[in-house]
Amino acid sequence: MVTDTSASQPAVLPPLAGTPVVPGVAYGPAVLARGEVSAAAIAAFGDGSYADPEAALAAYDEAVDLVADGFAAKAAQASGATAEVLAASAGLARDRGLRGAVRKNLRGGSPPLSALHDAIEQFVGAFTKAGGLMAERVTDLHDIEKRLVARLVGEPEPGVPMPDTPAVLVAEDLAPADTAGLDPTVVLALVTERGGPTSHTAIIARQLGIPCVVGVAGALLLEPGAPVLVDGTTGEVIRGADPDEARRLVAADAEQRASLATWTGPGVTADGLAVKVLANVADGESARSAAGGPVEGVGLFRTELCFLNRTEEPSVDDQAAIYAEVLEAFAGRYVVVRTLDAGSDKPVAFATLPGEENPALGVRGLRLSFGNPGLLTRQLDAVASAARTTGTEAWVMAPMVATVAEAAEFAGAVRERGLKAGVMVEVPSAALLAHRMLEVVDFLSIGTNDLTQYTMAADRMATDLAHLTDPWQPAVLQLVAITAEAGRQAGKPVGVCGEAAADPLLACALVGMGVTSLSMAAAAARPVGARLASVTHEQCEEAAEAALAASDPAAARAAVRALLT
Ligand code: PEP
Ligand code: MG
Repeated sequence: MVTDTSASQPAVLPPLAGTPVVPGVAYGPAVLARGEVSAAAIAAFGDGSYADPEAALAAYDEAVDLVADGFAAKAAQASGATAEVLAASAGLARDRGLRGAVRKNLRGGSPPLSALHDAIEQFVGAFTKAGGLMAERVTDLHDIEKRLVARLVGEPEPGVPMPDTPAVLVAEDLAPADTAGLDPTVVLALVTERGGPTSHTAIIARQLGIPCVVGVAGALLLEPGAPVLVDGTTGEVIRGADPDEARRLVAADAEQRASLATWTGPGVTADGLAVKVLANVADGESARSAAGGPVEGVGLFRTELCFLNRTEEPSVDDQAAIYAEVLEAFAGRYVVVRTLDAGSDKPVAFATLPGEENPALGVRGLRLSFGNPGLLTRQLDAVASAARTTGTEAWVMAPMVATVAEAAEFAGAVRERGLKAGVMVEVPSAALLAHRMLEVVDFLSIGTNDLTQYTMAADRMATDLAHLTDPWQPAVLQLVAITAEAGRQAGKPVGVCGEAAADPLLACALVGMGVTSLSMAAAAARPVGARLASVTHEQCEEAAEAALAASDPAAARAAVRALLT
């Protein structure tokens, strides 16, 4: 990133840095969202002077109605993931358990704001302990508390100021309600102090295609209205950049993004090395949409996402019909079906064990079949049946495999049904033993999201650990390289299907390590494919070497960028 240091320009302050989550360069004035209820209004409200706890509870109920209706109205105007998270927030605001906790506190003599705060904290504690997706909802709980307090003390609900003119929006973290109405023509980029690659901010920014950097320490100290240059590829937030140079960088980035959008596949480097570019899908609908893009197949069908709302295990026939929708969409191509990865951040009522102390390290993924083998065999029967009826080639892989014996047993069950068998490499033990895994399976697929979580011992949902849950961490890359090398030696395919595959620069480095396919959210296929087409195999190998040699993620990104751009 170039900045001007001439005396006539504003002073160049050291850049702030965070985790880049949506690529793109933007330049504009910073608009800061602090979103607090005013201290004066809280002081004036005091204990609310209600006649009794029941009157205070009635005021709470009124506030809940207003806040929940506000979420629901925003949900009605939104679509997709945004609408879902807003509807979930409306439900959480109306939660009976939360109301019960507030009522108990009020009856115990707490003034209304303390009764609410203590009840919210009780929920925060429970959600944090549950980990995974539940812990991610702590931001929503705090947002709900702020909104309820505002309603109780008679202020408008705090929120993100929607700029009238194009600006960079800077916040501590964004709740779903804040991000729902974001207009990408006005919000040039998002910068948050907290939040990781899987935070709501990141999800919504990806959906809207807004350049985004999260986990930027000191972001809220940016001067309101002062121009900032945000680079969603490097994670830099630069103050005092030369305006002409900044605009040139924005224009160059826009041009580059426009050219990436025209890539039509198939995946191949500039000198002809074929690399399969594949899509990650969740169900028939997402498969049909992905099938219209330039992908050679599905590299990860997350079957558990079809069943998040089911309380009963669907019959083999019902499952087969669901899987057939995905296979049908990819007729003539191929689909890698992952068996149920239930548990931890993806609880499935009919499969997951309740009350685990540490669900991410518990009975999830393939481990569920240890105590319930029928769950796996019925699913395999359903996949085999769907493959037969559609005629689409199906490969099947298991999540959370830790030992070669698990891999061998799984492969046996898959092959019995005439399907190709593989396992995911998400646990460091599987990466370290990749060569032995490949003696018993046909392919490996590296799940960098979980491989990063388990290598770095950092919850992938923890907003404060974004610097650790970064697939560019050298230790994670070492494990990827070991796995890819094992594939090269065995002459068997080794793909990557975690978020790392969707990062165009990292994708090139992965190919340089020997990865043979890259599977990603369908929207990422063009940028990744186009980047691959612009580099040679040798450049990819150099990028891999540089990334592996770097001391930390930022150095690795910088080294690879320098080699490939
Ligand atoms: C992964 O862990 O990288 C992966 C692809 O699986 P999931 O994100 O569904 O856990
Ligand atoms: Mg995983």
